[in-house]
Amino acid sequence: MNAHPNFPIPSHPKTRYVSPTLPIQQWPRMSDWFTTTSVAPGITLTTEPWVNDYFRANCYTVQGREADLQFDFCMGLVPLRPALPLSGKPVIAVASHGHIDHIGGFHEFDTRLGHAAEAAGFASMAESATLKEAYVSERYGPALLRPPHPDFNLATWELTPAPLTRTIAEGDSIDLGNRRFTVLHLPGHSPGGIALLDEVAGILLAGDVIYDDSLLDELPGSSIPDYLASMQRLLDLDCRLILAGHGAAFDRPRMQDLARAYIASRT
Ligand SMILES: [Zn+2]
Ligand SMILES: [Zn+2]
Repeated sequence: MNAHPNFPIPSHPKTRYVSPTLPIQQWPRMSDWFTTTSVAPGITLTTEPWVNDYFRANCYTVQGREADLQFDFCMGLVPLRPALPLSGKPVIAVASHGHIDHIGGFHEFDTRLGHAAEAAGFASMAESATLKEAYVSERYGPALLRPPHPDFNLATWELTPAPLTRTIAEGDSIDLGNRRFTVLHLPGHSPGGIALLDEVAGILLAGDVIYDDSLLDELPGSSIPDYLASMQRLLDLDCRLILAGHGAAFDRPRMQDLARAYIASRT
């Protein structure tokens, strides 16, 4: 039995604590577990409406000419891959970082890329990397994390290890044939946090580096100095659409406002 991680669930605006959409005694149809929405040309957002919106992550599929890119993998409560709009071409799976809300279905893919700083976490799915216990413990769940069906036991649920097949680092390219993403290493929220930038389209897949809500910089593995440096980089980043790891998409001026607000709060 793991001890609960010694960090508080941060206070967020009340809207992030809405109750699960159905009372816990009612169950969603499995075919409704994920929703997919087109958010930009060739890019589809997949998310989990049945997961409380505090943890509900945004996962993105990019269809390319020679390969598809899958960026992040939801909670792993329900198999993800069958729900994704994949084309049947090879899939390059890239994890933004190792927290449970982003990597539950990472193991469903053969080609798995992530930053070396979190490689051990992907391979072990240890609590220190995923923070799973914080999400499913009696203290925080099931009010914050409901099981997907009545036979599902959150207490014995384990994440499936997903060792990286290749590490990626700052400046690397992920080439889909007709579009290319550059890897940005932006630690702070987590040590190996990455974002992917399509410089041509001006689209940033941001993971948990930045999203339009309170940013978490006191988790195990977080670093406020690193986060400040990452935010400084974002201020100068040339892009026009930010597809974040949580919540709504936003534009560059909003990204700059969020980055400035973070810097002001921590300096
Ligand atoms: Zn995270
Ligand atoms: Zn997250």
